Amino acid sequence: MVLTFRPEGIYCPAGDFYIDPWRPVDRALITHGHADHARPGHRRYLATDIAGPVMRHRLGEIELESIRYGETRSIGGARVSFHPAGHIPGSAQIRVELGGEVWVVSGDYKTTPDALSTPFESVRCHSFITECTFGLPVFEWPTEAKAARQVNAWWAANAAEGIFSLLGAYSLGKAQRVMSLLDPEIAPILTHGAVENTNAILRAQGFDLPATTHATQGLKPKDYPGAMVIAPPGALGSDWARRFRPGATGFASGWMRMRGVRRRRSVDRGFVVSDHADWKGLNEAIKATGAENIYATHGYTEIFARWLTSEGYNAEALKTEFTGEGVGAEDSE
Ligand SMILES: [Zn+2]
Ligand SMILES: [Zn+2]
Repeated sequence: MVLTFRPEGIYCPAGDFYIDPWRPVDRALITHGHADHARPGHRRYLATDIAGPVMRHRLGEIELESIRYGETRSIGGARVSFHPAGHIPGSAQIRVELGGEVWVVSGDYKTTPDALSTPFESVRCHSFITECTFGLPVFEWPTEAKAARQVNAWWAANAAEGIFSLLGAYSLGKAQRVMSLLDPEIAPILTHGAVENTNAILRAQGFDLPATTHATQGLKPKDYPGAMVIAPPGALGSDWARRFRPGATGFASGWMRMRGVRRRRSVDRGFVVSDHADWKGLNEAIKATGAENIYATHGYTEIFARWLTSEGYNAEALKTEFTGEGVGAEDSE
């Protein structure tokens, strides 16, 4: 087997390494910086050069080696390369080849392009370990242009009434993606510290983000009328956010496609913006790999594996400790 499944995570016996392991291991290949994939405690890490700075910020002093998209390395008897996953900046699918047999671990992925992530690339393989966070037909995403129009229309209407727009978005990836949709002509953009820290790292890497102001405790909201305030979802109900009154709240997530989720999160407005593939994207991506064997992780794994089996694949749900874009998860998407 090119890859096997161990209690620590997805393992390559020939190369003696793990991919996104959830328990501390000697050698970890990491698809991207989200907390359920890039965990602390490994002795050595390998990730893309683009993912590296955020991982260092989140994990502290780690022994981290970097690799470019498309570059091939031999690790033990295995040949390894990383390919764009289109999920967040630096996110990768990891291809592992052994004696002509190819496996690909998708990590989290999104098949439609956005302004920041390197666009998803399809990689041919025999076995594909795919996420399926949004593996139900109900999940269908609007185009990037439509999402931008919706967010900006809401913001402009709020600003015209003189109220703040508070938008919940995870601090790594989603927040910057939402920022890339905003029309900075409408009003200033304010950020929570967790978002601004990630912004600073990405700007230093050359990512083009609109101008933002870090909303520190000392900032006076009345100096920023009609501002868009971007914060991690969990900070929307905090004292920090309560200063921005009167205000309307919004949340950007694929889950906003589902009835009732917005109400349960008690936000005024939901925007369907996800870093993951929708139903169509998942199915097209899987088909394009040419793989016969599919392993499903994240979310609706059992249902999705049954669907793939009915489509003629050898499909299996995989038990992992990836958490996906949880409705309640703070920052693990
Ligand atoms: Zn994930
Ligand atoms: Zn992720």
